[in-house]
Amino acid sequence: MRTKLLLIALSAGFIFIASCNKRIDYNQKDNGKIAGIVFCIDDYYVGDFYKANHYRYIQSMGIKMTYFITKYHILSKGQKRIIKIFQADGHEIGYHGTHHIHAKDFLDTSTITKYLNYEINPDLKLMRNDGLLISDFSYPYGSHTPQLDSVLLNKYFYFIKLGSTKPYFYTLNMPREIIHPIPLDERYWIKYHISLQNILNYIDSAARQNKIIMFYGHRLTDNYRTNVNAIWFDKFRLIMDYSKEKGMKFYTLNDLKKLDNKKNIILNYKNDTADIEE
Ligand SMILES: [Zn+2]
Repeated sequence: MRTKLLLIALSAGFIFIASCNKRIDYNQKDNGKIAGIVFCIDDYYVGDFYKANHYRYIQSMGIKMTYFITKYHILSKGQKRIIKIFQADGHEIGYHGTHHIHAKDFLDTSTITKYLNYEINPDLKLMRNDGLLISDFSYPYGSHTPQLDSVLLNKYFYFIKLGSTKPYFYTLNMPREIIHPIPLDERYWIKYHISLQNILNYIDSAARQNKIIMFYGHRLTDNYRTNVNAIWFDKFRLIMDYSKEKGMKFYTLNDLKKLDNKKNIILNYKNDTADIEE
């Protein structure tokens, strides 16, 4: 009997959540109400997010993810298929490098041109040839130099992602720039003393001030473990449920370009392989 009641309660909850799934209408900006969340994921663990219970939740809530993919050339057919499904379902595919190298270390002994030809151009070309619309980049290890930032922002990408331990709030029509999401992986919470209460407070501030708050992570796991590069699914769900309760919307970085009336950016980047030769 108890199991039956629990099942009824769970399915009622699921129907309620499914009915909340609403697409963003860019023509009606909801009276200027834009408060929301951008959720970035780095690396290539796309299977974690496509796992049935995880993806069902993400889709039923209308959550938008921006997946920064690295080492595309070594990914399996299955992983590439999931990436295509993500893009078709309205999530964004961004870029996280061909070999996932430490940019600053590389540039200590080499040139920007060599970096571009080794780390940026090869897989970017592969991914674009596979129909992926890439216009944003995340630095592996958050390692970068100001000179490289300006080359990548001028010739390759619209947004560039670095990590941050402080909240970063985005408002409409901010200059094209580097974004700084806060990590939600368990490892960083220990390392940087980030608590669930901190995160909920940041969501409250964004909701109150009509701003967009950004988060990021690497993996999604059902089993809680400390000190891993993964977000515990129960925690992810709690944060997302709380955001929805506060009336927050979910955006990809491409959605922000649309909100900023820069719809062409995504298309313009599509065929631009941006090879630089010196
Ligand atoms: Zn990475």
